Amino acid sequence: REEMNIIQGALELRTKTVEDVMTKVEDCFMLRSDAILDFNTMSSIMESGYTRIPVYENERFNIVDILYVKDLAFVDPDDCTPLSTITRFYSHPVHFVFSDTKLDAVLEEFKKGKSHLAIVQKVNNDGEGDPFYEVMGLVTLEDVIEEIIKSEILDE
Ligand code: ADP
Repeated sequence: REEMNIIQGALELRTKTVEDVMTKVEDCFMLRSDAILDFNTMSSIMESGYTRIPVYENERFNIVDILYVKDLAFVDPDDCTPLSTITRFYSHPVHFVFSDTKLDAVLEEFKKGKSHLAIVQKVNNDGEGDPFYEVMGLVTLEDVIEEIIKSEILDE
């Protein structure tokens, strides 16, 4: 029966979208691109507990980098290193997915390797101005796997 539930969860990957399982942008722990890696900033990064942290320029909808906590291994908080020095050095690619992407498709992307985190965006057509990309949140491999596991737990 457990296997049936997992299969059920796996089948739902075809119908659910990343928007259904993402962490909303307002709940994301992110850093400003002009942050300084002093003791306070580094403490808040450690306290957040996240391994990957989106970096935004000016406004939270404008994600320009991903900081990996392991990038901080050689950073001394006393040096007050600008965050941009670190992100420029490691220069991890930022992966984007559209909010209506189905979970099976995003799982395939994650399986291809590189990053297991993607920034979720949509095209905003509202209002008078030109359409623009709007960041809605982030999704990780764990969010997709949870979707399979959840149906296993719920149905008990
Ligand atoms: P981590 O390795 O940082 O714990 P996971 O990939 O295991 O990240 O994801 C765990 C959960 O945390 C997921 O629901 C994911 O959407 C969320 N998450 C990951 N990074 C962040 C972040 N920087 N801010 C907010 N939520 C995040």
